[in-house]
Parts: sequence; structure tokens; C-alpha cells
Amino acid sequence: APRLPIERRSTRSTCCYCGVGCGVLIHGARDAQGHERITGVEGDPQHPANFGRLCSKGRTLADSARSLHGRVLQPELRRQRGEPRRPVDWGLALDTVAERLSGIVERHGPDAVAFYISGQLLTEDYYVFNKLAKGLLGTNNIDTNSRLCMSSAVTGYKLAFGADGPPTCYEDLEHAKTVLFAGSNAAYAHPVLFRRLEDAKARDPGVRWIVIDPRRTDTAAMADLHLPIQPGTDVALFNGMLHHLIWEGLLDQRFIDAHTTGFAELKQLLREYTPRMSAEICGIPANDLVTAAEWFGRSPAALSLYCMGLNQSAHGTDKNLALIHLHLATGQVGRPGAGPFSLTGQPNAMGGREVGGMATMLAAHREITDDAHRAEVEALWTLAPGTLSPKPGLAAVELFDAVRAGKVKAVWIACTNPVHSMPDIGQVREALQRAEYVIVQDAFADTDTVPYADALLPAATWGEKDGTVTNSERRISRVRAAVAAPGQAKPDWWIVREVARRIEARLAAPGAAPLFAADAPAAIFDEHRALTVGRDLDIGGLDHARLDDDGPQQWPFPADAAQGQARRYGDGVFATADGRARFHVTPYRPVAEQTSARFPLRLLTGRLRDQWHGMSRTGRVPALFAHSPEPGLRMHPDDAARRGLKAGELMRIVSKRGELVLPLELSDEVLSGTVFAAMHWSGQYLSSGGINEVSQPAVDARSRQPELKHAAVRVEKAAFG
Ligand code: SF4
Repeated sequence: APRLPIERRSTRSTCCYCGVGCGVLIHGARDAQGHERITGVEGDPQHPANFGRLCSKGRTLADSARSLHGRVLQPELRRQRGEPRRPVDWGLALDTVAERLSGIVERHGPDAVAFYISGQLLTEDYYVFNKLAKGLLGTNNIDTNSRLCMSSAVTGYKLAFGADGPPTCYEDLEHAKTVLFAGSNAAYAHPVLFRRLEDAKARDPGVRWIVIDPRRTDTAAMADLHLPIQPGTDVALFNGMLHHLIWEGLLDQRFIDAHTTGFAELKQLLREYTPRMSAEICGIPANDLVTAAEWFGRSPAALSLYCMGLNQSAHGTDKNLALIHLHLATGQVGRPGAGPFSLTGQPNAMGGREVGGMATMLAAHREITDDAHRAEVEALWTLAPGTLSPKPGLAAVELFDAVRAGKVKAVWIACTNPVHSMPDIGQVREALQRAEYVIVQDAFADTDTVPYADALLPAATWGEKDGTVTNSERRISRVRAAVAAPGQAKPDWWIVREVARRIEARLAAPGAAPLFAADAPAAIFDEHRALTVGRDLDIGGLDHARLDDDGPQQWPFPADAAQGQARRYGDGVFATADGRARFHVTPYRPVAEQTSARFPLRLLTGRLRDQWHGMSRTGRVPALFAHSPEPGLRMHPDDAARRGLKAGELMRIVSKRGELVLPLELSDEVLSGTVFAAMHWSGQYLSSGGINEVSQPAVDARSRQPELKHAAVRVEKAAFG
């Protein structure tokens, strides 16, 4: 007989997909037997990111959350490679993981262990992982899939403004008169923000959109001016635009003189970037470049929105800086509707950076290499002086290289699927095969990474766990559990803390204060908050209770503040030592991998409208396949005709690193000479691991973010049999 609900309730939480960070109401029911289930999800009308709106992914959250198909419900261990994993209880799983990790640290030193975690984790989860790696084990080898997504934006902000984090807020979408999208298909990747932008444009016909993208995406299709530049030529474009602004006197010289340094050196470089030469590099008409510069330079409020098209590049830092230069040179920063606004890909890429959960940073935006910063964290964590390692850890690509080389013996992977998402995944597979010990902590058992796990730890997931996330506008929102986690799944912070306590009992000096006393997300947040006081992201005035009472808040939010700060640098004082923003010299450099006679096509990657990352969650919702039911390789019809290829034929896509097979789609949304494939399809759907079989691992020297957006490939008809 159907169970009748005896209790219905709604729980306020935050969507777990993209960095827009939409508020949701999770509706749930509990029946007479005490079984709980999520019955629906709707947009939270009170949340300032979305005011009740949701996109297709957010609207179907209940469908993905209800499905227990493929969930990890019990810890599993195997004694040695080649054996299947067997279910065990939590006690044995935690003891074994702690013993294996501490044994490796004792034999090989702390840097023989590494953690690869996720921008999907909550801030509290991230915090405990970071404390375990850096504070207890003494290694900075903790990196995250945010490295694949945001690190060039972080480096750009730090170099230009002196601190991470956007100076802008979502209200700027409504105030902007010129919106420049650079490498951002916001219509797909940040749909609710895109709706806000569409509304603003509909209200004010004077608003103009410029979209810079080699593809005619759905965002570009709405543009007043689309610049389909050749892949990777963004720096030449921005330099050419700034050259024109200088030539036409469209600078804010007062702002440059009062609030910046380095403009003279940049101006010297820009002499050669005439609009004609820059446009030639970009493969666009010079008039279009000039029009973009004019619209930007003469606008009362110019806002740029940028994302993976700039970040996922071997020159991502320069791309970010060259775009920020346009804002600094025209004084378009720190006021309503103006500023460089990096849109965060993942729901908590920002929160992960706040707690220092990356190989290149410490808690609260401190630097690993700064003696004073390490001493501050040691004092706040009650560590003996000198405990924290001054050596930066291994960033994502290097981390798996080090595992493959045998330098890192054990790797703990949480809430992410590197055998799908890393560039050149053949190398990642090899690394995990060679590793001495692999721990995978995940809610889902069917990812491409799980088969490599020696220990599989069942994690609670969205709708089942409690904590906070920070969205693209620096707004911290609560995430709340609506139902209990299934089986023996546990919150990520709990799993890490339990292992950490066991390692602590083995490794810590006698009499040392316990490092992992916090026993709930609110208490972990309080520890995190204490580390931020006096820093640029000071949240001394926030805790879970205040977020519960007053709703989501932006940082900084110091103890004496009545509210968070919507915009930063409005007073023209930046976070550098002298308070001035910095121009940098940004010469254009081409993509890392050039095309050749063997690999003549440029492969671009990107997102589909209704899927998220490796589809662990969205792949459970049939409705989300309606928009793009199948994987495919998009090619310009002229290129296909020249090769005698027809739509629907199976194509082998080959690079220097590997190959995969996809059906051919013909579309003039891609430039001739380029092909496009979505990033989402993984080994669950393909006979290969997805498009990263062929992508290439070159990284930006400063941000260490790989060039996932571009690789040289050839395409040929697949032959079978
Ligand atoms: Fe979720 Fe992003 Fe869609 Fe909002 S826009 S509902 S945060 S996926």
C-alpha cells in the first residue's frame, strides 16, 4: 500500500550546480514508518541570487536527489590490487585509511600523500580537508578541481588588485550599459544570471552586449556585436582594444594616475597592437574590434563577464589581466554596473579558496610562501612554530604526474572524477594504477574514478548535508539537509575528521591540543571565521546562526558590520601594499599546441545547457537529455564537405595523446578549422573516457590551470571490424 506522508516540510538550501548559487526550497515528506524523501524543489523567492528562478538543472534537483541508483551506501575496502572491494563497517574503513596514510607519511614523508578534492564540497568539508593535509600531515599537496576552472581568474585578480575575489555583485548586471562576455556562454553555464541580463536589456534598449567567442553560442546569438575570434587570441583582442582607447583619448587618466601603477610600461607594449594587426591575429574585421573598444570606452558603465574561455588556457592569467586592463584604464571598476566579473563555474569554488583548500594558498587568502602568514595560521591552529610547510604543493596536473612518477604514493580523491575531468586522462589512469593507495570518497559509485579505489568511502550529497557555499558574487549561503543520507553515507567533513583524529592519535606530539575538536558544521565555520579576521575576506560578523536569521550575506562582513560589502574598491584603494592596482605587460602568445599537417583542426570544448560536469547527477534525470540527447562532434559544414563527411557518421578524433569516437554533427556555429565537443560525456556513456582522452595538459605558468579549451586534432571516419 502506498505510504501516506504524515509530515511535510520545506527546507531552505542552495542549488548544488553552478556558481550562480541560487536559493532553493526543498520540499520533503516523512511517512508513518519514518521514511523521508524529497518531494520537490522550487526556487527561493527570497534568495538575492535568483529571487525564485531556477534553470532546467535546478528545477530537476528533486529528481536527481530521489534516485538511489548508483549511490555508494557502505564503505568498501580491498586488501590488494586485482581483488574486488568488499563492504566493511565504518570503524574498519576509517582505521585502515588512517593506518595506510600515516604509514606512508612515516616511511616516505608528508609529501608522499596528496589530496584531490572538489569545488562541489561545502566550505566546512574543504576546511577539514585542508587542516588535515597542511596542519596535521604537513603537506601542501591538496588541490582541487577548481584548479581546472578558476585559478587563472584568481591569479589575475591577485596580480591586478592585490587580492582574490570579484569587485562586483549581481546587481551590477542590472546597472551595466555595456556588457562584454569573454569566453562565457552564460546562457548555458549561468542561466539564471543570463535571465537577469536579458531582463535588464529588455528594460533598457540602450544596453549593448559584446560577445567574444569562437563559437556562435546561444549567448553570442543574442549579442549586438559578436566577435568570433580565433581560439586563444583574446589577449591580442584586448590589447588592440586598449590601443584604440589610448589613441582616441578614451582613458580615465585621473583614475590611472591616482589609483594604478605600471601603465607606462604596458602602453609601450601596446604601440604594436594596432587594431588592424590585432584584428588580423584574431581573424575578425578591424572595424568590429574598434566598435567593441568604442562601446566599452564610451560606456557609462561597462561590465565584463568571463569564464572558462579565458581561464582554461596556458595563458589564462594574461587573458584575465588584459581584460582587467580595459577596466583600469577607463576607471570602470568599483561602481554600479562596472567591473571585471569572473563567473565561478562550480557552486563553491570561492569557498574552497576562502579556507585555503588549494596547493598554492593558505587559509583566508594567505600565502604559503609568506613566513608571517604561516606563523598566523600556526598560532590560530595551535600548531608548533614551523609546522606548516613553506613549499607550495602540487597543483592538479603536477599532482597526478607525481603520482604516476611514484613520488606521491597515496592520493585521496573526494567528490570529483579526475579520470573524466583532467586533461589527458590516459596519464591519470596510469597514475592511479601505479599509486600505492587510492582513496575515493564519493556519493556515486559509477564514476570513471571509482574502479581505481582501494578504499571507497560513501559520502552524503546535496539534500543530505549541512554547511555553507560562496557564490560568484562573494555571497555565502546556507546549504541544509532535508533528508537523512541513505545507507551508511556520511557528510564529507565527518569522514575526514574521523580519519584525521585517528592519524592525530598516531602522529601528533604528546600533549598537543586536539586539532579536530569541532564536531558540527557550525563549529567548523566558527574556526574558519576566526582565521579570516583582519583579512580582505573578513567574515568576523558571520556564523551559521546569523546566516539562518538574516539569510545569505556577502563578504567582507567584519564583526562590526551591519551587512556585507556589495562592491569592492569603490574608494579606489586596492588590496596591494600601496593601495594601487597594477597594470602588467601582457604580450599575446598563441595557444600551447599548434595545428599541423597531422593534426590540422582546433578542438574546442564546452558545456551543454542541461548537463553538469561528468553527469553524475544530471545523468540520472531523463528530462535533461531532451535538449542534447547524444554526444557529438560539431564541425562546420564546409569542412565536412571538403572531407566528404556526413552528419551522423562516426568520427575518430585523434590527438598526440589519445583518441575517441563520436558521431558527427554539422553546424555553422563553429568556425571553419575548428570542431567542438561537450565536456560532459564520460565512460558511463562512451566506449572511451570522454573528450579529455585527447585534450592536452599544458598549464599556465602562474595559475597552473591547464588549457582544457584547446587541442590540435585530426578527424577521420571511424572504421570498425
Ligand atoms: Fe542551479 Fe546554476 Fe541553474 Fe541556479 S543557474 S538553478 S545555481 S544550475
